[in-house]
Amino acid sequence: MTIKELRAKFITGEYTPVDALNDTLSNIKENEDIHAFLELFSAALDQAKAATERFKTEGEKAPLLCGIPLAIKNNILIQGERTTAASKILENYHATYDATIIKKLREAGAVLVGGTNLDEFAMGSSTENSAFGPTKNPLDSSRVPGGSSGGSAAAVAMGAVPAAIGTDTGGSIRQPASFCGLVGFKPTYGAVSRFGLIAMGSSFDQAGPLTNSVADAELLHNTMAGTDAMDSTTITPDTYPEVIIKDKYRIGIPRDFLKEGIDADVMELFEKNIQDLIEAGHEVVNIELPLFAKGLAAYYISMPAEVSSNLARYDGIRFGTKVEGDDLLGDYLNSRAEGLGAEVKRRILLGTYVLSAGYYDAYYGKSEALRDMMREELKDTFKDVDLVMTPTTPTPAFKFGSQEDLLAMYVQDIFTVPVNLTGVPAISLPAGMVQRDGKDLPVGVQYIAPHAGDARLFDFGKKIYDSKL
Ligand code: GLN
Repeated sequence: MTIKELRAKFITGEYTPVDALNDTLSNIKENEDIHAFLELFSAALDQAKAATERFKTEGEKAPLLCGIPLAIKNNILIQGERTTAASKILENYHATYDATIIKKLREAGAVLVGGTNLDEFAMGSSTENSAFGPTKNPLDSSRVPGGSSGGSAAAVAMGAVPAAIGTDTGGSIRQPASFCGLVGFKPTYGAVSRFGLIAMGSSFDQAGPLTNSVADAELLHNTMAGTDAMDSTTITPDTYPEVIIKDKYRIGIPRDFLKEGIDADVMELFEKNIQDLIEAGHEVVNIELPLFAKGLAAYYISMPAEVSSNLARYDGIRFGTKVEGDDLLGDYLNSRAEGLGAEVKRRILLGTYVLSAGYYDAYYGKSEALRDMMREELKDTFKDVDLVMTPTTPTPAFKFGSQEDLLAMYVQDIFTVPVNLTGVPAISLPAGMVQRDGKDLPVGVQYIAPHAGDARLFDFGKKIYDSKL
């Protein structure tokens, strides 16, 4: 069900928020082996009861998310709840305050059901890096749900909740949405406050929704968005250029970027989606974005640099479980050696390396310069087209353990990371099914809008996707 459908039932009273929560909890129990959730929040029942009462007195005047059960990626702080970011080092960490987005979701009446599984500190594309075991794809349990917001995607795909919140540093909302047949939205950098998100790459991270419809994604995004005194990178409404909404859009395809590495049937489906757009009256043109192809290289320099600095706080003294050593340095070394997983350590090492005095200019400095050039390239592109279209991922969901070659896993992000490097918004929409081993698996198409053009993506998405639901 979509949020909108659920709300309609709450208003008539045929189904209450308490009923919805009970159904959510039974679904989670039935699907325990999917392992979508790390935590269930006991406060949810009181929230659902309060929401049920509100509908009795307020009816359709109740706030827009009143009684809607939501799953929250477990790297977003919820006061009093265990928030581990799927890391052993935070195994016993209970959040002492609400993230700004959580405050806003609460004010809109949402019922916060539980914390979902992820790759440790959001580093990964499969949830295989979770310290507490992977999440399975509900559509084929031999395959990954994507990552790092794999638990959030699985929670929606298995029908436990109508929507979930994830975070996206390089594709972690859009890629799992693609693998699980959902809508996934990554906002313009700064549209949504990062206060209370466990940081991965601070100049990349944004929180956003995974949903069954574009309208639901819009509703959740608009609830969470806004300037926040606690996050100086949030943008104010008056710095937004006016978003031009059109009846028909002009869409650019960066053809050179799509030449290799994409599964043949994924590409076929992509072409079919282009044909559908043309039939619907949109205009599709080929464009060139030569710098986009360098995005992956820049991402795997700038992102680890930020990771190494953000994760310095987990030393067993300031944050994280302490493992005693012989002296202070020993405490640090033991705590981090035992508390952090292999992928996280790899990125910290890579990050400290590219930031070190002798290599800063050669790697980090160049990568940041490339980000500026990519922003300029995109700005120019958007003088000509309204949207840019790519596949979300080169393949459908892959099998557990199949990406042992690290680079193969990193290539998953090839189409999604340029979006975070440049800060623009993008949405992944279900584009159809491909077959693997006799099973139908979903794949997504990504649409990218200019900076602060979030509203255009919602308008376009509702036209081409929601209208067919
Ligand atoms: N898969 C990407 C990575 O491993 C993206 C992660 C994310 O967006 N949090 O870094």
